[in-house]
Amino acid sequence: MSGYLAPECLLEMPTGIWRVDLRGRTVRKTDHEKATGLVAAEGSATLPEQKLTKLRLAHANGAEPVGPNVIRQTTISTSVELSGISLHKGTMVQLVLKPAEADSGIVFRRTDLATDDVEVTDVAARYDTVCDTTMCTVIGNAAGTTIGTIEHIMAAISALRIDNLLIEIDAHEVPVMDGSSDAFVAALDQAGLSELPAPRRFIRLTRSIAIEDGAKNAELSPNDDGLRVEFSIDFDNKVIGRQELGVDVSPESFRGDVSNARTFGFLEDYEKLRSLGLAHGASLDNAVVLDGDKVMNEGGLRAPDEFVRHKILDAIGDLSLAGAPILGCYRASRAGHAFNNQMLHALFADQTAWEYVTLCHEAAKPDMSRIAISAD
Ligand SMILES: [Zn+2]
Repeated sequence: MSGYLAPECLLEMPTGIWRVDLRGRTVRKTDHEKATGLVAAEGSATLPEQKLTKLRLAHANGAEPVGPNVIRQTTISTSVELSGISLHKGTMVQLVLKPAEADSGIVFRRTDLATDDVEVTDVAARYDTVCDTTMCTVIGNAAGTTIGTIEHIMAAISALRIDNLLIEIDAHEVPVMDGSSDAFVAALDQAGLSELPAPRRFIRLTRSIAIEDGAKNAELSPNDDGLRVEFSIDFDNKVIGRQELGVDVSPESFRGDVSNARTFGFLEDYEKLRSLGLAHGASLDNAVVLDGDKVMNEGGLRAPDEFVRHKILDAIGDLSLAGAPILGCYRASRAGHAFNNQMLHALFADQTAWEYVTLCHEAAKPDMSRIAISAD
């Protein structure tokens, strides 16, 4: 827990995010907006001692009591079930999402194995448990237990700012639902959100990291406003073509711009995948299917750029395997699951590129909207 003890923290204010030096008494604005109220001008200023004491408390080794305004971890309020077909095996799968304690993270538990030993049944959703990225993101443990196609539910969990969850599953693949994150968002909304006592820690980029592999490239750079994902794809196909989009990830932007974008595939690849034992559950109900330059789905696309939106959805899910929300901008071109995971390995291999921080709500008026799930 000592990772919480940062000499600096980020203070979220209506005027933007400020960097606070907890050893001294200074704050620095981290973006270009004009300050009002607490700090009169751009640059640095002195914080009242009372406010600093609260901030120091919030950083007191991650232990209680923390300041009243620190952004805390969350879980769901009640258990919720959902079921659906798995994309690759084509079998019916049941999921039960359950509340979990602070600092437990997102853990998948297989309930179809002939043992209760958590060393065998449990797999933490983390970048370093990813064991396959051929068609989807697969995680596994040392006992050889795996869970596949985790990216769409992970995208929903992280975009709705849920830190801790136990996901019981009776198969080795998360159901594909309609190919998007919508069903997972609906289930999480039904379960509701609960705040836990422990502060949420964020991974703050302190400098940029870039990776490259032929035409694929990606960069993760500092962005203290939160996670931003910018993606571009370029397909030799008239329907897809070149598509670019950037999203500042929040519960609102995820619901509005990303969640309903479906996975997609080409008809000519379908038979090939089936011969590899994949895509047995694939149908027009759970993917956008392209036959050459034609969309085969009756209702057409949900957005002209549904393809790049889905790539952003996948990236949000894959980046959530960092184990804590990232304050950074992920800019990727032609990247897939393997590349997204490679970026997290590059990040964690370089301790000088990032730090753990906690964020505080404004002292006088907590901004609960940052962690609230709206009713609809
Ligand atoms: Zn996907």
